[in-house]
Amino acid sequence: MKVVLQNLTKIFPGRNKKVQEEVVAVNDFTFTIPDGKLIGLLGPSGCGKSTTLYMISGLQKPTGGKIFFGDDDVTELAAENRGVGLVFQNYALYPHMTVKQNIMFPLQNLRGEDKLTKEDMIERAYYAAKLVQIDELMDRKPSELSGGQQQRVAIARALVKMPKVLLLDEPLSNLDARLRLQTREEIRRIQKETGITTIFVTHDQEEAMSISDMIVVMKLGVVQQIGAPQEVYDDPTNLFVAKFLGTPPINVFEGSVKAEKLYIGDAAVLDVPGIDDRDVTVGIRPEGFVIDENGPFVCGLNSVEVMGRDVSVVCNHAASLNPVIRAIVDADNKVAAGATVSYSLKPHKVFLFSKEDETRLRFEVK
Ligand code: ADP
Ligand code: MG
Repeated sequence: MKVVLQNLTKIFPGRNKKVQEEVVAVNDFTFTIPDGKLIGLLGPSGCGKSTTLYMISGLQKPTGGKIFFGDDDVTELAAENRGVGLVFQNYALYPHMTVKQNIMFPLQNLRGEDKLTKEDMIERAYYAAKLVQIDELMDRKPSELSGGQQQRVAIARALVKMPKVLLLDEPLSNLDARLRLQTREEIRRIQKETGITTIFVTHDQEEAMSISDMIVVMKLGVVQQIGAPQEVYDDPTNLFVAKFLGTPPINVFEGSVKAEKLYIGDAAVLDVPGIDDRDVTVGIRPEGFVIDENGPFVCGLNSVEVMGRDVSVVCNHAASLNPVIRAIVDADNKVAAGATVSYSLKPHKVFLFSKEDETRLRFEVK
């Protein structure tokens, strides 16, 4: 099911006399979510991710704009008639019910022509449980399950009605690091197997990048950029997006352009054809540094952290806007002990941004 968001906007009024200012939680969000894809909705806490999801589910009413499922305008349709499955961060299961009863619960409310027989309900519950691989645990109570298993029950409960759209709001936040990794792969597998259009909300860029067909990066209610994860990482539209994606994060510097050369401090570190003379903010991805004893970019050397395959070179520079610079280089590189380390730069890993509005200034990369 294709989902169309058209100028979707949500404004919350001031809460009381003290907080009179209204909050524009989602501001003019327009995007067509293609059928059968997994979309990662990504941004820092408070940027409007949950509000967007609740509007799509029908739990919250937009202040402005429209939502279509396929060609149908569902903006005014009640949540229970939209055919969406919703999984929250706090996967509240009914503690006194077994796993099977928990999964079957949404089916018991079906009325009229949707009403199912007990046998059908059990069959559907097992189908959903098999998808998330908990069909062995059907007779247990939630308290007898691990956190990861409980979250799978919640996902099965959302899947059991065979939703047209699956909405996941930070579903992995309560799991430990290993389970998070495993469960996100599971979600990807289930999504591919069922072909259900899925929107996955997270503040964790790595999580969103790893499983999404497309990511939507939001800031303060406003969509910043939409694209395939690698595309957005390789070609960020502004400084916010560049800083939000990537671990370790992008290194940011004060710089200036003179005669189509980028200067960081006094050194001309890169040719930047097509950029006029001006001050700029420079972002360099950790993998954009090449150790080169004749390289133009000389940094103070703090330490070298060996991480197996790669080496993380921690260094410093007066023009850096971060406390330290992190360069990731291949472990084959020998970093000579000394006070400084010299680099040349990979042009496609260096981004320039306007100092006025932080938008990208693109130069030609040969
Ligand atoms: P996210 O899920 O990205 O963390 P939310 O969508 O929950 O962000 O919130 C977006 C903004 O809207 C925040 O500033 C939040 O404080 C505000 N907000 C969310 N829900 C309400 C509400 N019911 N009343 C007033 N403000 C709200
Ligand atoms: Mg939220």
